Amino acid sequence: MNVLYKPSLLLNHLTYRCIKDCIIFVKKYYMKTISEVNFDGKTALIRVDFNVPLNNNLEVTDNTRIRAAIPTINHILNKGGSIVLMSHLGRPKNGPEDKFSLKHIVSSLEQLLDKKVNFVEDCISELSFQVTRDLKKGEVVLLENLRFYSEEESGNPQFAEKLAQHGDIYINDAFGTAHRAHASTAVIAEYFPNDKYFGLLLEKEIKNIDAVLKNPQPPTTAIIGGAKVSSKISIIEKLLDTVDQIIIGGGMAYTFIKAQGGQVGNSLVEDDYINTAKSVILLAQEKGVTLHLPTDTIIADRFANDANAKSCAISKIPEGWMGLDIGTETINLFNTIIQSSRTILWNGPMGVFEMESFKHGTVAIANSLVNATDVGAFTLIGGGDSVAAINQLNLAERVSYVSTGGGAMLEYLEGKELPGIKAILD
Ligand code: AMP
Repeated sequence: MNVLYKPSLLLNHLTYRCIKDCIIFVKKYYMKTISEVNFDGKTALIRVDFNVPLNNNLEVTDNTRIRAAIPTINHILNKGGSIVLMSHLGRPKNGPEDKFSLKHIVSSLEQLLDKKVNFVEDCISELSFQVTRDLKKGEVVLLENLRFYSEEESGNPQFAEKLAQHGDIYINDAFGTAHRAHASTAVIAEYFPNDKYFGLLLEKEIKNIDAVLKNPQPPTTAIIGGAKVSSKISIIEKLLDTVDQIIIGGGMAYTFIKAQGGQVGNSLVEDDYINTAKSVILLAQEKGVTLHLPTDTIIADRFANDANAKSCAISKIPEGWMGLDIGTETINLFNTIIQSSRTILWNGPMGVFEMESFKHGTVAIANSLVNATDVGAFTLIGGGDSVAAINQLNLAERVSYVSTGGGAMLEYLEGKELPGIKAILD
């Protein structure tokens, strides 16, 4: 009797523990979102990421990041709140510079919101406080570039305290800067101990990256490309604990090929990282992760769009030639792997996709991800250049999720605690 009774007790205990852990997890991540907050008559101070590209006429050329902040803004306006927006733009060195003024993005924001936005030419001036104090229900104010003050990046508490005076409730919706411990992204949260929340974008980012990192549907594949092994090594090592397969493409593949004894001609190689590449290959074997490298490549006799180019086995590149894209055989190989995966992460282009002659591999991978998404795979794209590629091809709506945070996404995937997220949870 006792023998039968004990396992069921243990089972009950485990079930109880499991439910308790789930509740803690849900509380930790979801009670800090804005869905349940009463914004009526309140001013929400939102850190957004409006660091968008501008052309020579100072017009916004890609409004993705502004669009990404609209759901949070509209949610609060619909709930009777008013809004103060703060962001950085570019990298101003010594105080205000016209080309980095956030006034250049006002018309794009007004168009997307379909409402007037009041721009204030400083983020902590007396006038700015007067404007935000007098704010009426439904009104939106945008403060000038936070990085016109060096105190923003140094995380100065006095600066953060001043910024905090602009609102009753603090919301962080800037995933792109969540890996920075700046005044407006992390330090400011201390001044809102009971009124700090994730915005809808930040919540969505965490949820989608967790879908790859914490509970992926197997088989899982990470496609890592881009220029250098050195900038992606931590994420590759971390992914070896999570994924079933890793595809390595782009400039970094040549360091791996050289590590295996291949001839890579004048291709981009980080000689300092040959040993690292060797140990990644070994580690992948130990962990049972299949590591796929390109088998053929498109080589060029110059780093130029109009260079002479031809196809070649990736480990037999002649001197004077450099690999600038993956070849047809590799595209087919990578496509087969992608189509048989259920969860796929893509970071970094397969070649020098900025040049028309060497973009085919990157385009093929983007299309392959779209096809995989169509048949039910979860596809996450993140990191500056693969996002640029998917946007250029107008395919962003056809994959599961495109992250707005390059560096932040990489650090989150590496398992680092992001200051912008920690500050809300603490
Ligand atoms: P990352 O920022 O590390 O993702 O690298 C993106 C950059 O890598 C892009 O500007 C690409 O042009 C570059 N890249 C990709 N493949 C190659 C290659 N085979 N040789 C040189 N640069 C490359």
